[in-house]
Amino acid sequence: MRVSELSESKSKKQSTRERFIEFAKKGEILLNQCTKCKNIMLETVYYCDKCFSNSFKHISYSGKGRVITYTIQSVAPEGFEDVNSYAWVIFKLDNCDVNVSGFLPGVSNPSDLPLGSKVKVIDYDVKHGLVLQKV
Ligand SMILES: [Zn+2]
Repeated sequence: MRVSELSESKSKKQSTRERFIEFAKKGEILLNQCTKCKNIMLETVYYCDKCFSNSFKHISYSGKGRVITYTIQSVAPEGFEDVNSYAWVIFKLDNCDVNVSGFLPGVSNPSDLPLGSKVKVIDYDVKHGLVLQKV
């Protein structure tokens, strides 16, 4: 398991969103860990869903996981004209029990992406969010 703890001093220079993007570009997911009960959650939460603490520290995990479910979008809505078909994917991280959603270009048919497929985070797009790639 690869977990890197991040220094406090660095966190004051960047917003959480900027840090999340920076880690996504390295193929990692920035998560919150409750300092009380060690529960791990997405960095978008405000309260721990187990103990209701609002004290977190940032940890990063490898952005690799397996597809749980997805929706194929073949008609691109506004803002997505630059891609033909893609899937909105929910995947579970390999190293912790957290589900993350992202955008996987080039999926037009369910046979392109069987459930359980391995995917990884490769980038962050300001319009689309996390960008995924099949492993
Ligand atoms: Zn907690």
